[in-house]
Amino acid sequence: MYSLNETHDPKLTSWVESANEAMSDFPIQNLPFAVFRRHGSNEPFRGGVAIGTQILDLVAAGGQLNGLDPAVAEAASQERLNRLMALGPAAWSALRMVLSQALRSGSATRDRLRGCLVTQAEAEYRVPARIGDFTDFYTSIHHATNVGRLFRPENPLLPNYQWLPIGYHGRCSSIGVSGQRFHRPLGQLKPPDMAEPVLGPSRRVDYELELGLYVGPGNEPGERIALDDAEAHVFGISLLNDWSARDIQAWEYQPLGPFLAKSFATTVSPWIVTLEALTPYRVAWSRPEEHPRPLHYLDSTANRQAGAFDITLEVLLQTASMQSAQVAPQRVSLGNFHHAFWTVAQMVTHHTVNGCNLQPGDLLATGTQSGPNETEMGALIELTQGGKRPIRLANGEHRTFLEDGDSVVIRGWCEREGRPRIGFGEVVGTLLPARD
Ligand code: CA
Repeated sequence: MYSLNETHDPKLTSWVESANEAMSDFPIQNLPFAVFRRHGSNEPFRGGVAIGTQILDLVAAGGQLNGLDPAVAEAASQERLNRLMALGPAAWSALRMVLSQALRSGSATRDRLRGCLVTQAEAEYRVPARIGDFTDFYTSIHHATNVGRLFRPENPLLPNYQWLPIGYHGRCSSIGVSGQRFHRPLGQLKPPDMAEPVLGPSRRVDYELELGLYVGPGNEPGERIALDDAEAHVFGISLLNDWSARDIQAWEYQPLGPFLAKSFATTVSPWIVTLEALTPYRVAWSRPEEHPRPLHYLDSTANRQAGAFDITLEVLLQTASMQSAQVAPQRVSLGNFHHAFWTVAQMVTHHTVNGCNLQPGDLLATGTQSGPNETEMGALIELTQGGKRPIRLANGEHRTFLEDGDSVVIRGWCEREGRPRIGFGEVVGTLLPARD
């Protein structure tokens, strides 16, 4: 785990004025990474750092960043961030320090770096890493219980849940960056009152509010990652929407878990917030007394004292008619990652306990994040009790599951007394009608 240093100083301001606004996601204490280019251009994608409403172009700025190891500068300016991810915490920290010094008020390099800024509103992004493998966990016990109750009323939470971080292997090819638009999936549907399944468009397309963890340095096949070393293998965290077709899922998920219900689209936010930036927002990890203590390899003092992160997570919905009337997306839930039953470190350690090797740029998703209250549920299947209780929107529309043209927006941010607010930006995706 990182210690606090001058890059976290709440008093720091930036010469990029928009970074100093109280509600900015990207003050100088944040400094998240993405790959971008000017929208609609043929420029190569390259690494960038968010500062206020701007992006510092790491290709243009590379030679201007005093004290930066050229190998780190080169890794950070690639068209994907895998090489930067592979370098590990010492290199990431050194880069963060150089960027903080270059972008803070009074920096001697200000005039040279001013020409290396690109306005975020003029940029387009891509998935920031070549993702070799995608694992989706299931770390919210509230979500697991709520969904389990709908699929198996007599037996909502299976006994293994409290002992190990449940996960499955997902599909990489359909992961897209914020702005992704995809068609309503077709699949086998078998409502309970029908004797046989039919092929048809899913009628129960849902979103899942999740975070994505990008793996940094990997491990060799056969090598396990110990709990207190696990976070050194995580580059940072982004927002993630794991779109799900609940009717396809209900018919296919036993015995081997989700397959086509999940593999048609997954959307990630462009910006990755580093664990070092998240250090001031760490909180203790605990679980209710009635659950057993984790097995030894999933338990440590450091993990209990500060293994969790206080990240507020918001889901908003904008229907097609809201969009045409220029009505802003409406909030449907507000939750927090600190409710997770398992931590970032526990996910990494459990993933490798059998010797499975992780690689730089692998993506681990947290699973849907729901809290104990109704306003904190991170998917429509929970908010609407399996489609039985529609939610009402301010314009009079109702939703059980998503309709064609609906856009879902996920935002996340950290706040703490005496600290600046830092944000994750947002991830947006839109459901299009099924293809003929
Ligand atoms: Ca999921």
